[in-house]
Amino acid sequence: MLKDSFGRVHDYLRFSITSKCNFNCTYCNPSGFKNGVEHIVTNENIMSPIEINRLLKIFIEQAGIKKIRFTGGEPLLRSDLDEIFQNIPTWKKNYDMIFALSTNGSLLKSKAKFLKDSGIDYLNISIDSLKKDSFQKITGRNSLEKVISGIEESIIQGFKLVKLNFVLMYGINEDEVISIIERFRDYPVHIRFIEYMPIGKNNWNKDYFYEYKKILDLIHEKFNIQKYETEKSSTSKKFQLENSFLSISFITPMSEHFCDNCNRLRITSSGNLRLCLFSEKENGLELGKILNDFSDEEILEKIKNFLPNKWLKHPPMEELAKMNTMQMVELGG
Ligand code: SAM
Ligand code: SF4
Repeated sequence: MLKDSFGRVHDYLRFSITSKCNFNCTYCNPSGFKNGVEHIVTNENIMSPIEINRLLKIFIEQAGIKKIRFTGGEPLLRSDLDEIFQNIPTWKKNYDMIFALSTNGSLLKSKAKFLKDSGIDYLNISIDSLKKDSFQKITGRNSLEKVISGIEESIIQGFKLVKLNFVLMYGINEDEVISIIERFRDYPVHIRFIEYMPIGKNNWNKDYFYEYKKILDLIHEKFNIQKYETEKSSTSKKFQLENSFLSISFITPMSEHFCDNCNRLRITSSGNLRLCLFSEKENGLELGKILNDFSDEEILEKIKNFLPNKWLKHPPMEELAKMNTMQMVELGG
């Protein structure tokens, strides 16, 4: 079991399998790192399927991790997903595991069936606008229709849960909150409205920040929604829309942080273990570099010894904006 100095048990691992992305979302990968921010992870230090599976084995079979989310960058860009996912059925059978994946949805239409057949249970799909021009402005790509057809295909494939991630940016897409609920109100999906976080060099500005309570008031005026209880480690406040399959939630790392119940660890695609989204760049454990030099037991020991470095909570947003944090696309959201 992975317990930190504050007694928090860590049983959820977010595993980035690439730092590459075919989108340049303004809040995550602005200008594809071209404006003076070097895209440091190259093909050479991205972990191979064998290395990824070795780490997954240690975390699942020895460290008590119960849920894995594959993320990136854009995980569906990897051409060796079949090798990366090869042990999922066995781990689900033997360790009662949950597997999830986050994607921008652009390649999902052709890959949803493969993901379902590989054993992925939950899918998170990013969609921050339903307007073609605004979608392009946010992501740098004209791919709205592809993303919508990816969402539709994932519903056809019958994943246990499909969540749509919508990063709220005042002046950019806050006017679409009602329309995205209306667009998907007959779909069995869950929409998550996420507060815009300052992370890496993402040009975060307090003016873009939109507190979730204001959005909630707006939604209350239009729809009947019922709050429901969430598990202790949940990062969100969840609501069910009356007479609809749709549920919604608010992820509020900025206005109401959820560090007290944090159960998450992160690994970058090069194998850098991160204790918090907002850990400063140098504060990681480079597992990818030492995998060949140590046994599984020794690696586990190193992970356990590193865990006490986790802080109780992250600093407030104005401070985070000045810190040297990792770029989200590199870290894995
Ligand atoms: N490419 C995939 C995608 O877009 O879903 C997976 C990786 S992406 C980094 C994971 C999630 O992080 C996305 O839902 C994205 O919206 C969110 N994200 C990235 N930067 C963010 C920021 N600055 N504030 C809030 N959410 C952010
Ligand atoms: Fe790529 Fe996802 Fe980041 Fe957008 S949020 S740039 S799709 S990794």
